[in-house]
Amino acid sequence: MLLVEDLHAGYGTSEVLTGLSLEVRAGTVVALIGANGAGKTTTMRAVSGALRPSRGRVVLDGRDVQGLDASRIARLGLAHAPEGRKVFGPLTVEDNLLLGAYARLPRFFGFRRRAKSDLDRIYELFPRLRERARQTAGTLSGGEQQMLAIGRALMANPKVMLLDEPSMGLAPVIVQEVFRTIRQLKEAGITLLLVEQFARSALEVADYAYVMERGRIAVHGTPAELHRDERVLSAYLG
Ligand code: ATP
Repeated sequence: MLLVEDLHAGYGTSEVLTGLSLEVRAGTVVALIGANGAGKTTTMRAVSGALRPSRGRVVLDGRDVQGLDASRIARLGLAHAPEGRKVFGPLTVEDNLLLGAYARLPRFFGFRRRAKSDLDRIYELFPRLRERARQTAGTLSGGEQQMLAIGRALMANPKVMLLDEPSMGLAPVIVQEVFRTIRQLKEAGITLLLVEQFARSALEVADYAYVMERGRIAVHGTPAELHRDERVLSAYLG
């Protein structure tokens, strides 16, 4: 569903991604782990079009998308839930979700009705968001805001979702809640590329994983394979 080949990207003259390749098959959860500064966030940005790659291919559902604008890539089916849960605090939970539908649905007659069926789908997945639909997003807990950010990305009905460090800055009990949310996404069959600092937890939900070092993939395999790799064990899972 998502194929990345020999991707190079960076900031100004410093190249951060130095030939990264990975694959996310339909209906699977793939984890991207690695030390701080390895280039995980840069990978997400280069795939979603937030940052223009200098070389390489990004293929989404059979279509080359590298070099296209982020908004175009989003319309072609890639949702990017960036680091830091950027929900709109003063807006209600429901309005935050509806914002996620605008990218896809033209605002002509029938928008509300179609958005309504998308809303119902999100509320079914996250009943907590339905309970809090009329509350402003700023009053939610950190874990609920993360759930909302994910729900908003799902409103666009993406083919692939990129989820960048969803547990960042959250207290440990909330982190567990976020991983429960990710498990729900997996059960719902959402295709997901997950960047996580909590490598252990990420490998518990993932079907496949890539370990990134200095701008490229150093090791990849199923979680069971990575657990058997001495170097991965001591560097990332110790
Ligand atoms: P972290 O877990 O700390 O977010 P990461 O693996 O996601 O790490 P990136 O954020 O992709 O790593 O950063 C990779 C490298 O690119 C780092 O050396 C970082 O300093 C550099 N970098 C990141 N963002 C920028 C930017 N906007 N401008 C210049 N350099 C940047």
